[in-house]
Amino acid sequence: MKIAHNFNAGPCVLPKAALEAAIEALKDFKGTGMSVIEMSHRSKEWEAVMAECRSLWKEILNIPEGYQVLFLGGGASMQFLYVAMNLLEKKAGYLETGVWAKKALKEAKGFGDAISVASSADKNFSYIPKGYEIPADLDYFHITTNNTIYGTEIHTDMDCPVNLIADMSSDIMSRPVDVSKYALIYGGAQKNVGPAGVTFVIVKEDILGKVSRYLPTMLDYRTHINEESMFNTPPVFSIFVMNETLKWVKAKGGLDAVYKMNLDKAGLLYNEIDRNKMFMGTAAKEDRSLMNICFVMTEEYKDKEDAFMSFAKERGMVGIKGHRSVGGFRASCYNACPVESIQALVSCMQEFEKLNG
Ligand SMILES: *Cc1c(COP(=O)(O)O)cnc(C)c1O
Repeated sequence: MKIAHNFNAGPCVLPKAALEAAIEALKDFKGTGMSVIEMSHRSKEWEAVMAECRSLWKEILNIPEGYQVLFLGGGASMQFLYVAMNLLEKKAGYLETGVWAKKALKEAKGFGDAISVASSADKNFSYIPKGYEIPADLDYFHITTNNTIYGTEIHTDMDCPVNLIADMSSDIMSRPVDVSKYALIYGGAQKNVGPAGVTFVIVKEDILGKVSRYLPTMLDYRTHINEESMFNTPPVFSIFVMNETLKWVKAKGGLDAVYKMNLDKAGLLYNEIDRNKMFMGTAAKEDRSLMNICFVMTEEYKDKEDAFMSFAKERGMVGIKGHRSVGGFRASCYNACPVESIQALVSCMQEFEKLNG
């Protein structure tokens, strides 16, 4: 079988163990003689998967009492409107750190006064704004902890005078998080915890029910809390694979161990980017993402970008083209991306320098 060094930004590489379990469950789910995608979602076998998945989320992220974990459809993009619809009564603030943050802000504007509290648009979102003041009269403050396109990341759980809402689509489960600092965390599963099709939401229950507008049943978080994410048919296959991915995270030693792996992996690649005279990083050093590593060729070697792309492709690298708004290269090094793939990319950069530098 062909092995790819998969650096795709999302959907992305998943643990082999999760894929193997998924293949088995597609054929015969727990000895039922049926595929996991042929079962009733009201069966006790399926309900056990839902319960296990919820409990793994709580255990691995150390989620405190008073929070609920939901599995919904619609992607992180649907949460842009859910958040505003359920929580914005008068005024909300957004930290504008990229395209996803801007999309979230745009949705909120349809529900009330939504403002950009600080922005890094002046330098093409290559850094995380600092030293800004969060107004105390906000219903909530929304951040994007990892900016998938630009390779910047907020590395700490900030103190916030109002409800803190975080889009953690692309760095959830990559490090330990102090969930108690957040009122709500959401994301699409397809960057670090599973396949596309399921969206996770971790919500502090007592922040709900405070807005005066009518909430359609499907768009009210409380519906999904009351029905344990089974108000309607959940995306069963995606949840199954997410559950297996979380089992893998736990087996690796949980988030302390996974975080250490991610630091080591990102360190390998950033060291090479900084050492190699042909390449340079695009994100401010202190804000560099552990998940999405963005780099370009230095001025002197700019004309060699296409050549490096082909060179890397021939050596099995997949998905390293940078987003069109940044250019150059982006290596997404999510949890399941093995260190061997990073080493292969580093070797590729070294070899290319020897031949062309
Ligand atoms: C990919 C991504 C999204 C969009 O996710 P969908 O599930 O495709 O809607 C939103 N925010 C961030 C930070 C992302 O990386």
